[in-house]
Amino acid sequence: MTDSASVTASADTAHDWSSRFTALGSAFFTHLNPSPLPAPVWVGRSEAAARSLGLPPSWLDSDEALQVLTGNQLLDGMKPLASVYSGHQFGVWAGQLGDGRAILLGQTPSGDELQLKGSGRTPYSRMGDGRAVLRSSIREFLCSEAMHGLGIPTSRALSVTGSPAPVRRETIETAAVVARTAPSFIRFGHFEHFAARDDQIALRSLADHVIDRFMPECREHPRWPGKPYAALLEQVSERTARLMAQWQSVGFCHGVMNTDNMSILGLTIDYGPFQFLDTFDPEHICNHSDSQGRYAHQRQPNIAYWNLFCLAQALLPLIGEQDEALAALESYKTVFPAAFEARLRDKLGWHQAQPGDGERIDATLRLLAQQRIDFTIFWRRLSGAAASADYAPVRDLFLDRRAFDDWLPGYLARAQAEGGAPDAALMLRSNPKFVLRNHLGQQAIDRAQAGDMSEVSTLLRLLERPFDEHPGHEAYADFPPDWASSISISCSS
Ligand code: AMP
Ligand code: MG
Repeated sequence: MTDSASVTASADTAHDWSSRFTALGSAFFTHLNPSPLPAPVWVGRSEAAARSLGLPPSWLDSDEALQVLTGNQLLDGMKPLASVYSGHQFGVWAGQLGDGRAILLGQTPSGDELQLKGSGRTPYSRMGDGRAVLRSSIREFLCSEAMHGLGIPTSRALSVTGSPAPVRRETIETAAVVARTAPSFIRFGHFEHFAARDDQIALRSLADHVIDRFMPECREHPRWPGKPYAALLEQVSERTARLMAQWQSVGFCHGVMNTDNMSILGLTIDYGPFQFLDTFDPEHICNHSDSQGRYAHQRQPNIAYWNLFCLAQALLPLIGEQDEALAALESYKTVFPAAFEARLRDKLGWHQAQPGDGERIDATLRLLAQQRIDFTIFWRRLSGAAASADYAPVRDLFLDRRAFDDWLPGYLARAQAEGGAPDAALMLRSNPKFVLRNHLGQQAIDRAQAGDMSEVSTLLRLLERPFDEHPGHEAYADFPPDWASSISISCSS
């Protein structure tokens, strides 16, 4: 094997793979090829992702796809690159970072960027080896598709491939590559990078690229006439606010909300030590490396705002007026609570907003926290109860049945005020039956490490359609086993 990927042309995938990101110029990236890995095997493949990218799903059956998506081969027209960015990590300016183990292969027929993660060292690898291990790659693959299934904006994952090549972490593990896609992988940190260098020309090019490709409405914004960069900041604030509302409503903890992991498009990106809550604990810290609890579940919305503030500072030279930057950020403070309440109303089966909903929602969440109720099971059982009018299965979740008996009449009365029972159909499509709990991911990882990839496929199938019943798969929707709470997920990946 050579130490650099070879190039082939393919009938199936022939199209112009060149990425529009390259138009930004050489200050933004370095061209380089992925470093090959020996003896790659498929670990997981998403046909749905392939379809959405405009790639024939049958391509995923080919050896060519296996080689390309592991970084061993390039398709005609691909000009791979790693991009440079900076960022704040755990609240502290970290200086230059960049794609240390991600390499952009090019643009798919749908116009999305196709990126390999774990495909070898880049000029931005710093002390890292440029690799990713099988364990964390399976988690990223499954969670990307799970979030998409939940209707939450996210990067997608086309595949995960594994190789016997050893990778040193706390122990020796094996290498894997995730092929992931997004309309763009531009992060807050890309803007911070050029702002920190006082390179206003590059900063403006980057902002113009994002506006022209993804948010052209910023050029003609009624609230921001002639102020496209303030409009951009407001647009990113609103997208991020809606994303946080969605994360909080499904009990998702990201784990590493550093500004270099924040998408300028308001997507969930960079899946590391993430977790879906089992019992509802607002203070839960999913990242073992986060000793201060900076990214604890309930802090995520405020952290997102803190990160937006960093973005605002980076954009300030373009926006000009500090007051305008602050005004653009301000929208976060109205959009987040409104979006969160709307999500929770759906989960509760209520339709129109009514005065007092905020307090009702808070009281419900306080109750779940006090009683340490399983978050996903509570909402799904409540949906079933709304359909059957039998609330006993929900009541059974409470150690203190009186607490539930005190809550239920108010809940039903609120629905009655809209003229009936809670809307069970709305609830069943708002409250997933299946989420990627840590122990489910772990079981798939344990099997894959022993060479059996079937659990990755099974989980993918369930998580792609998390609101469906999937008869015969009840165990995947059950309470976590006792050992789940001892799973320790750190930044090591
Ligand atoms: P993360 O917090 O995992 O998103 O990573 C933070 C930074 O470290 C990014 O610039 C990554 O590209 C880089 N990085 C993480 N792991 C590695 C690795 N094994 N090799 C090279 N760079 C890495
Ligand atoms: Mg990252």
